[in-house]
Amino acid sequence: MSDRKKVYLTRELPQEAMDLLKSKFEVEVWPEEIPPPKSLLKEKMREVDGLICLLTERIDREVIEAAGPQFRGISQVAVGYDNIDIKAATEKGIYVTNTPGVLTETTADYAFALLMATARRIAEADRYVRSGKWKIPWGLMMLLGQDIWGKTIGIIGMGRIGTAVARRAKGMNMKILYYDVVRNEKAEKELGAKYVDLETLLKESDFVTLHVPLLPSTRHLINEERLKLMKKTACLINTSRGPVVDEKALYKALKEGWIWAAGLDVWEKEPTDPDNPLLKLDNVTASPHIASGSIATRTKMALMAVENMIAILEGKVPPNLVNKEVLKVRPPTS
Ligand code: NAD
Repeated sequence: MSDRKKVYLTRELPQEAMDLLKSKFEVEVWPEEIPPPKSLLKEKMREVDGLICLLTERIDREVIEAAGPQFRGISQVAVGYDNIDIKAATEKGIYVTNTPGVLTETTADYAFALLMATARRIAEADRYVRSGKWKIPWGLMMLLGQDIWGKTIGIIGMGRIGTAVARRAKGMNMKILYYDVVRNEKAEKELGAKYVDLETLLKESDFVTLHVPLLPSTRHLINEERLKLMKKTACLINTSRGPVVDEKALYKALKEGWIWAAGLDVWEKEPTDPDNPLLKLDNVTASPHIASGSIATRTKMALMAVENMIAILEGKVPPNLVNKEVLKVRPPTS
């Protein structure tokens, strides 16, 4: 019998990351594209030493408590980790890691692309051309959008990605407002970003873009009351997590013209139902949670997740440990 440590992967990773992982450990992979069932996750937690997973897996207390004494860590291939019960993992001495930083610029590129697509109706224009609605050679009033350059952007959550979005906004000569639970003085100094309260941000921004993690304090942060504060010409962009926005309230806001349009990469339920009323609205630009999805970045994320797992199973403090308090419960062994 092999004495190599065992790692279970809930999805195949890019080849480079698979090769690195296999050079160190015995590796087993869930073969499908949909998430593995909870019963299987529990079974694997009893058997293996580490789990590499995606944000689609619900690693709740029940799954964590199924872990055997040999199980050391969960390495998530994403920066957000709201799918994992961190408290339960910490109590059980399980290390949890994520992949911050490597996806910042790629996600910010996408957030800004979605902002521009929403303002200039690019997805709608594509549908317009393909469906044969384009009948006149050039329309003075055809598919008119909102300007982006020189307008005001309101960034909610001025962390890594929020700041990278601010840099792009600066290049478009935009006025930058931000709201966060902590001040980001570096962004204020370097980018001219102005710290305001949430209400002011919502009232004064032409574009409101969300870059907060999903926490109890950010769930439905954008609700009916706050949507009503926004400008009628404003666009809401969400590349953070779906439940940060109350979709029912957003539908009302878009349908009744409280705001002008929305660009949504993330949804309250993923995949979102094709019958989601938001998808019936032309002023919604939709995408399937792909903001970090460039070929290079997904490979970097996978490699980072593997490096985190190697450190965990070698008894070290992994570079991207999320639950630092776990070190008191299970100190590193080397
Ligand atoms: P980060 O930790 O660097 O930044 C998050 C910021 O939000 C921090 O500055 C924090 O202080 C702030 N914040 C926390 N709670 C808040 C609150 N209640 N009100 C206002 N601000 C608050 O994280 P990041 O790397 O910039 O990533 C942000 C989030 O983006 C991730 O947690 C993830 O959910 C999401 N994300 C989505 C995709 C995608 O594919 N759509 C890709 C990457 C990240």
